[in-house]
Amino acid sequence: MRIGVLALQGAVQEHERALRRLGAEVVQVRLPVDLDGVSGLVLPGGESTVMARYLDEYGLGRAIRDRAAAGMALFGVCAGAILLCEEVDGRPGALGLLPAKATRNAYGRQLASFEETIDSPVGRFAGLFIRAPRLEALGATETLARRATERGGEAVLLRYGGVLAASFHPELSGDDRLHEYFLRLAAA
Ligand code: GLN
Repeated sequence: MRIGVLALQGAVQEHERALRRLGAEVVQVRLPVDLDGVSGLVLPGGESTVMARYLDEYGLGRAIRDRAAAGMALFGVCAGAILLCEEVDGRPGALGLLPAKATRNAYGRQLASFEETIDSPVGRFAGLFIRAPRLEALGATETLARRATERGGEAVLLRYGGVLAASFHPELSGDDRLHEYFLRLAAA
């Protein structure tokens, strides 16, 4: 199965390695043509404002929306999750493929990065949060995992059909189970 990793900017290699360990054929996606034959696309962490600008300039945003409508699965991590959300900081998001709201850099400076164990559909997972957004499901979007905080169990993993979004970085934990979960979505 061929899986693309959006390679405009950000933490691309760690996703490539995880996907290859799981036996996927991995291609870097920079232009619409790179999406040919791709069953799933990972949108990595990085800087969502920079990636959103490139998506527009290279005509990739439109190509991704077309391919998603035709059944391509998507996995957005941190900045990648922000790109997928319908609403970002009260404005329309770049791709708008996930009924959800994102608040960028929601955990403030002191908590800019932290680690927390997440109860996920693949079992307990070491969640690494790096200048993470706060996510909130809208409409038919399912919340697959939440933080167990006093502030009310914020969503950290969302799914809407073949669209998966995490506010933490599974590619940095050395644990490939969420990538494996994504490959099953892409195969479906
Ligand atoms: N704070 C970044 C943004 O808003 C996301 C950080 C990350 O991807 N680790 O785009």
